[in-house]
Amino acid sequence: MSSEDCLGWAARDASGHLSPYKFNRRAVGDDDVHVKITHCGVCYADIVWTRNRFGDSKYPVVPGHEIAGIVSKVGSNVKRFNVGDHVGVGTYVNSCRDCEYCDDGLEHQCSQGAVFTFNGVDSDGTITKGGYSNFIVVHERYCFKIPKSYPLASAAPLLCAGITVYSPMIRHKMNEQPGKSLGVIGLGGLGHMAVKFGKAFGLNVTVFSTSISKKDEALNLLGADNFVISSDEDQMKALTKTLDFIIDTASGDHPFDPYMALLKTLGILVVVGAANEIKFSPVSLFFGLKTISGSSVGGTKDIQGMIDLCAEKKIYPKIEVIPIEYANEAIERKIMMNSEGGNEDCLGWAARDASGVLSPYKFSRKAVGNDDVYVKITHCGICYADVVSTRNSFGATNYPVVPGHEIAGIVTKVGSNVQRFNVGDHVGVGTYVNSCRDCQNCNAGLEIQCGKGRVFTYDSVDSDGTITKGGYSTFIVVHHRYCFMIPKSYPLASAAPLLCAGITVYSPMIRHNMNQPGKSLGVIGLGGLGHMAVKFGKAFGLDVTVFSTSISKKDEALNLLGADNFVVSSDQEQMSALAESLDFIIDTASGNHPFDPYMFLLKTCGVLVLVGAPSEIKLSPGSLIGGMRSISGSAAGGTKDTQEMIDLCAEKEIYPNIEVIPIEYANEAFERIINKDVKYRFVIDIENSLK
Ligand SMILES: [Zn+2]
Ligand SMILES: [Zn+2]
Ligand SMILES: [Zn+2]
Ligand SMILES: [Zn+2]
Repeated sequence: MSSEDCLGWAARDASGHLSPYKFNRRAVGDDDVHVKITHCGVCYADIVWTRNRFGDSKYPVVPGHEIAGIVSKVGSNVKRFNVGDHVGVGTYVNSCRDCEYCDDGLEHQCSQGAVFTFNGVDSDGTITKGGYSNFIVVHERYCFKIPKSYPLASAAPLLCAGITVYSPMIRHKMNEQPGKSLGVIGLGGLGHMAVKFGKAFGLNVTVFSTSISKKDEALNLLGADNFVISSDEDQMKALTKTLDFIIDTASGDHPFDPYMALLKTLGILVVVGAANEIKFSPVSLFFGLKTISGSSVGGTKDIQGMIDLCAEKKIYPKIEVIPIEYANEAIERKIMMNSEGGNEDCLGWAARDASGVLSPYKFSRKAVGNDDVYVKITHCGICYADVVSTRNSFGATNYPVVPGHEIAGIVTKVGSNVQRFNVGDHVGVGTYVNSCRDCQNCNAGLEIQCGKGRVFTYDSVDSDGTITKGGYSTFIVVHHRYCFMIPKSYPLASAAPLLCAGITVYSPMIRHNMNQPGKSLGVIGLGGLGHMAVKFGKAFGLDVTVFSTSISKKDEALNLLGADNFVVSSDQEQMSALAESLDFIIDTASGNHPFDPYMFLLKTCGVLVLVGAPSEIKLSPGSLIGGMRSISGSAAGGTKDTQEMIDLCAEKEIYPNIEVIPIEYANEAFERIINKDVKYRFVIDIENSLK
C-alpha cells in the first residue's frame, strides 16, 4: 500500500457536502495507466451518489466520471498509451473482460457487472473513487485516447453525457441516414449533445422543451431546425408521424404517448433520461410498428468512435469551467436547474395550503427572453381574488401559490426585441401575463378574452408549462405586451390598484359609453371596485348615485369620493324616488342581492354592468323586456383599455384610496378584507418590506 498521495474532494454523508480528502490509489499494475487528471465534468450522477439518493452510497464518496487528463506512467504490458498522451476515463473502470458483452466492446453491459468509476466495488474489494481528484489508476482498456487538438476541458463531458446519447444513436443507425428526422426531448447536458450529434449526422432536428426560454439557444446556438413547446398541443399535433427517431433526455416525469404519436411507422424512441416511470398505451406501439428502447452510457468501442468523431467534426459540448472550490455551489445550481430550470432568486410570499396563510418562499422565474421585460416590483395591491385563490375557494389552487395581480414596479432589464420600454421606466402588470397574440380578441387588444385562453398572472399554466407566480414577490419577467407604462408623475403605490380594480370598472364604462357628461350613473357597493367607479364617473362628468347597505358610508361617499347622491338600498322610499332615473348602473357588490329593484331604476335602454361576484343572478324578465334594458358582464380589460385608463388617471389626477402596508401585514390584511374593514385598497410596499 502506498502513502495517501491522492488528493480528492469527497462527500462524507448524505448532506453531499464536498470537502478535501486524502486517500490511496493502487500502484500502477502491468496493464494500468496512471492518469494525471486535468478536468472532470459534473454529472447528475455525482449528486445522486453524494446525496445517497439510492441508499447505496459508501462514504466517503469521491464523485466524478467524466475524466480527462494526461498519462504520466504506464504499466509494462500497456501498448495503446504512452506517457504524455491525452486520455479520458468514463463511467466504468473494470469488467470481467471475458463475457460475450465484454468481447463485443459492450463492457458497460458486462454479465458480471461493470465496476463504476466511483462508489463501485472493484475486483480487489476496494471502493472506487472518481475524478474529483488529482490522479487515477485504471486498466488501459477503460481509457480512451483524446486527440491533442481537442481541448481536455471539452473532452470531459463526452465521457458520460456525450456517450449516453451517441451510443443509442449509433445502435439505431441514426448516423447512416442523413435527411432523416430526430426529435430531442429536453435540452440539458444530454439533450444539447444529442442536438449536436444529430446535426453532425445530417439529421433534421426538432427540440422539445417545456420552456420557451430555451428556443433561442436551441435554434441559434446549437443549430436545431425546429423548436416546440411540449405543452402546445397545436404545435405537437402538427408534427404527427413526422419523426424517424426521438431521444428522450428529460429527467422529470412526463407522458410518452404524445411523443410516440409523432413517430413515423417503424419509428424509435430512445429513453436516456431518468423519469421515475414510463407509462404509455400499447396502441402507441401496435399501430405504426413503433419501438421504445432504453440505453445507458456505451461500450469502449463506441466511446473511442465518438471522441474521434468529435475531434474530426469539431463537436464541442457547451461547458462552464469552474475551480474545485466552486463544486458545492455548482451542484446546487445543477439541482435547481433540474427542478425548476433556473436559480431560485425570486423571493415571494406564498400560501402553502388552504389555510391561506402566507409566508416567505423562494422560487425561480424564467430568464428574460427577447420579448420580455424584467420588472423589479415596488408595490402590489391586494385584491379579493388573492383571498379566494390562496384559500382554495374554487378547489383548483396549485400550491404553493404566490398571489398578486396589481403589480407596479420599475423596469431593470429588457429583451433585445423590446421597443416600448427602457430600463428605469415605471410599469404595471395586471391580471394576465400571456395570451395567444394571434386570435381575433388578441388582435383587437382584448387579450383578457383570448380565444385560446389568457394566462393569469398567478396560479395559471403558462405556455412553457410552468405555474405562474404573482406580485407578492421581488420581481417578475413578463412579455412586454402585458406590461403598461406608468407616467413618472403618478405614484407607483397608487398605480397598483388600477391594474385590477381600476380596469375592471373602467373597461365596461368605456364599452358602454358612460363617458358622456351629464348622464347618470348608479354604483352598487363601495369597496375597491365601487370607489373607483365613483371616481371615474365623476371624471366623466356623470351624476353619480351610490347604493350601499350601510348609512355609515354616506359621509365618505359624498365628501371624500365626491358622489352626488347616496341611497341606502334597503330604504324603499329612497329607491322608489329614483325609478327610471339612471342611464347606467355598475354593480360591484360581491354578496347576493336582488336585481329587480335596481333594474327598475334604469331609464329605457339603460344598462346594468355586473363586475362583482354574487353566486347567482336572478331577475324577472319584465325587468329587461319592459324598458329594453340590458344586463352585461365584464372582467378586467384588454391591454388597450388598460393603458388608456392609466393615462387618464395620470392626466386627471385620479388616485385610488389606499392603505400601504408591509408584506408582514399581509395575513392580517386578508382577515380585514374578509371582514370588509378596508378603505379602499391595501397596497403592499414590496420594495421596502420584502427582502
Ligand atoms: Zn464482462
Ligand atoms: Zn454521468
Ligand atoms: Zn383582482
Ligand atoms: Zn388570443
